[in-house]
Amino acid sequence: MNRMEQYAKLLVQVGINLQKNQILVLSSPIECAEFARLTAIEAYRAGAREVVMRWIDEQSSHITYTMADDAIFDTFPEWSRQFYDGYADTDAAFLTIMASDPELMKDVDPKRMSRQNKARATALEHYRTRQMSNLNTWCVASVPTVAWARKVFPGVSDQAAVSALWEAIYKTVRVDNDDPVRAWRDHQAALNVRLAFLHEHAFTSLRYKNGLGTDLVVRLPPGHIWFGGGDECPAGYEFVANMPTEEVFTMPHREGVDGTVFASMPLNYNGNLIEGFWFTFKNGLVVDFGATRGYDTLKELLDTDEGAKRLGEVALVPYDSPISNLGILFYNTLFDENASCHFALGKAYPTCIQDGVGMSKDELRAAGVNDSLVHVDFMVGSADLEITGVQADGREVAVFRKGNFFL
Ligand code: ZN
Ligand code: ZN
Repeated sequence: MNRMEQYAKLLVQVGINLQKNQILVLSSPIECAEFARLTAIEAYRAGAREVVMRWIDEQSSHITYTMADDAIFDTFPEWSRQFYDGYADTDAAFLTIMASDPELMKDVDPKRMSRQNKARATALEHYRTRQMSNLNTWCVASVPTVAWARKVFPGVSDQAAVSALWEAIYKTVRVDNDDPVRAWRDHQAALNVRLAFLHEHAFTSLRYKNGLGTDLVVRLPPGHIWFGGGDECPAGYEFVANMPTEEVFTMPHREGVDGTVFASMPLNYNGNLIEGFWFTFKNGLVVDFGATRGYDTLKELLDTDEGAKRLGEVALVPYDSPISNLGILFYNTLFDENASCHFALGKAYPTCIQDGVGMSKDELRAAGVNDSLVHVDFMVGSADLEITGVQADGREVAVFRKGNFFL
């Protein structure tokens, strides 16, 4: 079995942990067709009932964004909603290959993209809620494309860039040793040590400080739960929603974020780069922000809805970690977020609070759980980041020192 086959098998068996007779919905860029077909073969070998291919072509999307009638960006086709809801309701697994060109959409009006995202998210609320509550197993992974690889490894031939990106991806997903499945089990054990530390201390808030100027307090709601590595679906089997994953994460209180935070890496949002950005929060809400590049895109993101101006995720990743140590800026959140401590603007995972999955919208809000049409991670970790946990009695415990866990 070559490494590409090993990787496909890992996504099917560990990523979505496909069950016998389950339907797999596989979304893939057309450039990644070879890998998507390999994955379909592995899925049938694992007992898939059917593999449903959903091909994505971002060049066609780009043509639509630049040429189509302005009114269509507020609509989302009913057949497409039925596609997602229909498969979600049959307990299908959703595997998405993410490989967007970080520069492709730079000439597109960010308003069109944010309106389209909003229409999509609104139409797909049922599907999104099922996914974010782990009612459907899902996994997001990446495969190189020429356009993406050229951005990550400029100045070499297309072929050299693509193979360098493959090498990097194999390292991050642990397909660089004999037994990737076992490597993932060991990785999970290491994450479990961090989860145990965080649960044991039951911090009521975390205080972030670093030389970039970050000085932020993040309150954690009572009953918050930390996760890392695998998730469990209600049927009782594990899956890994992001491959790679190095983070442990929970939710902040939607009204409990105060101070200023500086991003430590650029953010590729819908094919637009946002760089040198920062936010100031008051009672959980962004009250001021700036960016050296992509300000308009950032503004559109924040203006999506009220929840887009609040945090929905707090994630801890050591500065000294496998992806970070590669020293590669991937321009792809899946990798960059796993190289750095990060937050997400927007919707929180209801699984991150006790009994959250069964709560109504109002109950979630009352418990401090943020809701939004978006969920966008941005990176804040640095070599000098200090995070101090505060417990209910006011006692302070070092969580991060010099960018790494202090356990
Ligand atoms: Zn995260
Ligand atoms: Zn996230």
